Amino acid sequence: MDEGQKVAETGHCMKCKEKREMKDCEEVEMKNKRKAMKGVCTVCGTKMFKILGTKKA
Ligand SMILES: [Zn+2]
Repeated sequence: MDEGQKVAETGHCMKCKEKREMKDCEEVEMKNKRKAMKGVCTVCGTKMFKILGTKKA
């Protein structure tokens, strides 16, 4: 899979209780050196957070 493109990240929105696309995505590094992606739900605007620490094979 292509991992270079950061077009539409998806995550589980706590408010929609569904999988949603995130906008305004920003990659952040957590204290434990794990990477995470934070963004905003495209539907309701709730902040979302997705941990990228475990990469898919
Ligand atoms: Zn939402």
